[in-house]
Amino acid sequence: MEVSITTVVEVAVPVPVDETFDYALLEGMTAEPGARVLVPHGGRRVVGVVVANKPGSAARARGTLRAVVQVLDEEPVLPILLLEAVLRVARDALCPPGIALAAAIPPGTAPRPGTKVALLPAGLRALERGEVRGTLGKVLWSLGRRARSENEIRARFPAAVAALERLERLGFLSRKPGTDPPKVRPRTERVYRVAPGLDRGRAEQALARAPKQRALLKALGNAAAPALSTPSLRALVEAGFVLCEEREFLRGVAREPLLPSVEAPELTPHQKTALGEIAGAIEARRDTQFLLYGITGSGKTEVYQRATEVALRNGRAVIVLVPEISLTHQVVDRFRARFGDRVAVLHSGLSAGERFDQWRLIREGRVPIAIGARSAIFAPYTDLGLIVIDEEHDGAYKSDEGFRYHARDVARARAERAGCPIVHGSATPDVGTAWRSAHGELQRLTLPERVASRPLPTVEIVDMADPSSRGAKRGMLSRPLRQALAETLAAGQQSILFLNRRGFAAHVYCFSCGYALRCHHCDISLVYHASEGLRRVDDPLEGELRCHYCGYREDPKSRCPSCSSPEGGMQAFGTERLHEEVSSMYPSARVGRLDRDTSSRKGAQRGILAAFHRGEIDVLVGTQMVAKGHDVPNVTLVGVIAADLGLHFPDFRAGERTFQLLTQVAGRAGRGVEPGRVVIQTFLPKHYAIALARTHDYPRFYREEIARRHPHGWPPFNEIVHFGFSGKRAAAVERAAVTLAGLAKTCLQDDTGSDSVQVLGPAPAPLTRIRDEFRWQLLLLGPREGVRAIARELARQAHGPAFAGVAVRVDANPLQML
Ligand code: ADP
Ligand code: ZN
Ligand code: ZN
Repeated sequence: MEVSITTVVEVAVPVPVDETFDYALLEGMTAEPGARVLVPHGGRRVVGVVVANKPGSAARARGTLRAVVQVLDEEPVLPILLLEAVLRVARDALCPPGIALAAAIPPGTAPRPGTKVALLPAGLRALERGEVRGTLGKVLWSLGRRARSENEIRARFPAAVAALERLERLGFLSRKPGTDPPKVRPRTERVYRVAPGLDRGRAEQALARAPKQRALLKALGNAAAPALSTPSLRALVEAGFVLCEEREFLRGVAREPLLPSVEAPELTPHQKTALGEIAGAIEARRDTQFLLYGITGSGKTEVYQRATEVALRNGRAVIVLVPEISLTHQVVDRFRARFGDRVAVLHSGLSAGERFDQWRLIREGRVPIAIGARSAIFAPYTDLGLIVIDEEHDGAYKSDEGFRYHARDVARARAERAGCPIVHGSATPDVGTAWRSAHGELQRLTLPERVASRPLPTVEIVDMADPSSRGAKRGMLSRPLRQALAETLAAGQQSILFLNRRGFAAHVYCFSCGYALRCHHCDISLVYHASEGLRRVDDPLEGELRCHYCGYREDPKSRCPSCSSPEGGMQAFGTERLHEEVSSMYPSARVGRLDRDTSSRKGAQRGILAAFHRGEIDVLVGTQMVAKGHDVPNVTLVGVIAADLGLHFPDFRAGERTFQLLTQVAGRAGRGVEPGRVVIQTFLPKHYAIALARTHDYPRFYREEIARRHPHGWPPFNEIVHFGFSGKRAAAVERAAVTLAGLAKTCLQDDTGSDSVQVLGPAPAPLTRIRDEFRWQLLLLGPREGVRAIARELARQAHGPAFAGVAVRVDANPLQML
């Protein structure tokens, strides 16, 4: 058969290969960029996304050009500018285009490749004669009325695989490639209304002998409404008196009550200036990036809302990103109070169906504002007028699996194409953002004071090295914190105790003096390694100390090099122990605990928080989770147990994270009428990240931080690409890491243009072993394009025998290197 090829489409398929593939579009098919297509790939059929159309003569193919099996979307699922933005960010993030695009589309919404099973005439005869029994018979029976998908049959009959094979051999049925409907589909409901133009009087007369139908007809309105499908109703439909229609039904929309809507306040002069700049950019379609810098309560959210109004007045859409919706409900609630049902909310708590319905509202242009966590940056608007990134420094904006993008980068790529401004809001901006702002890449807008002139809490720093503050007890609470806690409990107010520890305590930290060992080359905390993986450590002298950036190693110390205490080394302490200590010290206090352990069960976290909000918990003990966004007016004390713990994290951002966290936790105290107080316990009271958090002095913190990173060339002076290796066999993982490091060094010698790139490592990853997989890492540090060029080359070479049984991950600009 002669097949005439009209066009060729370039398709990104979700496979870990950094390229796209060409397919022929057979006559009569059209597929625009952004539409999904079913294509053959490596012996299977997969769902890919069209990224471009081109003439047949430009096709690239090894052997014969294969054809698209089926076009799945008439209208592209991804607007063209969004498609381009995602491809651009995928390139920078060193992510295969098909994997990146798949992340931008709600999961489960594409038709799936499947097999259609249909009865053949012989099968039909066998069925009619009742010749086949057992499972075979049941399978035949299920196919009696219509062809079905093989997956559907398999789900219904446990022994279906064998049965289908036998029936096929008997010539009773055929199996052909096809598609199964998407897992997630629009939901519809049946609605009924009286047929337009119906003469009700005559209809009722005609129903004189059917009183039930008559009563029902009388009750039905002219507007369509759902109704119970009874025999009477079906009879009315049959008779043409009533119309039955399918109507789309939106799942989980606006179930929660709205906050009472509040009048927008008169803006302060600083807010006015900020809004003026942003509004100007919206109206001029300029992709200006703004840094809206202002402490909590300085009126940033109000500025976001006014800017949103400007964009809407110009007929354009708005995306508002918040770090983690379950913990930062307030921004969402305030937007819904102001903008009502013009707001779509996207978050991880939605079911797949609810999420898809919100996504479709956006896609169809029915809702102009999308608020959500990281992935809401993919909201499929065609005409964006504004992007807001609230708490822009938050690590939750970086995805660390699959498509490892940062929402900020996607925002930038979209803003450039749409011609719209981005507002990055924070009280403690990401050091990189502040640096780009200092270099003119972002325009800085400042809200220097709190609106309601509510004072910031007073912050007291307790030096744990001072014996008088520790007291006789060797517990986790210092004397001043114990006293503050007692006073707060006596006053009937609430407290938060925050332990900055993330399930990872193997850094070497002296619990007597707070001293931590660091690498001489990288100034990064050394990490203790037991001889085999990271298991419970009983004899700290058995393993070794390692730097996770450069691989430097030394022997563990039997005594703390600083205070000679023999207890230097690992100390097991966590929220559980803290909870016990508080409970036994204050037996009548109601103590709650919030961390990954207690909150891994869905809903548990919300339950604990709700109880705390209702005042049913006096002291809330927890990790990072207690730091974010809770606004409980009765909280007047925040205690930080070991502020310097985070400083010893093997990460060049340790200081930045600590400063941000302390500022953020401190912000939890004194949100109501009563003034707040914060007690920070630390062995390093003079450390800049701690001392400057006391005075809420971000500008000075920023200068210190930049000065410290400069000599080492850490970001923002350079960029990092992280290679992670993992696998079941320790030796294989190490060999893969060493091999890739060798290739990296060869690349550097060959490529004179990238001589400013450094290869750090290979070294074991800080979390050396997770779920029985061993882990190593390798870092490239250097200028943006230089590190990427080498990383791309390495990613291409990371195959073959040296990498057998080892998974290699690539992460550009990682935030976590565990
Ligand atoms: P941020 O987002 O910086 O934490 P908000 O926008 O939430 O600050 O403002 C803090 C409080 O001040 C909120 O209760 C808000 O309603 C109120 N507020 C904001 N701007 C004004 C204003 N111009 N006049 C009066 N109250 C304001
Ligand atoms: Zn010590
Ligand atoms: Zn080092």
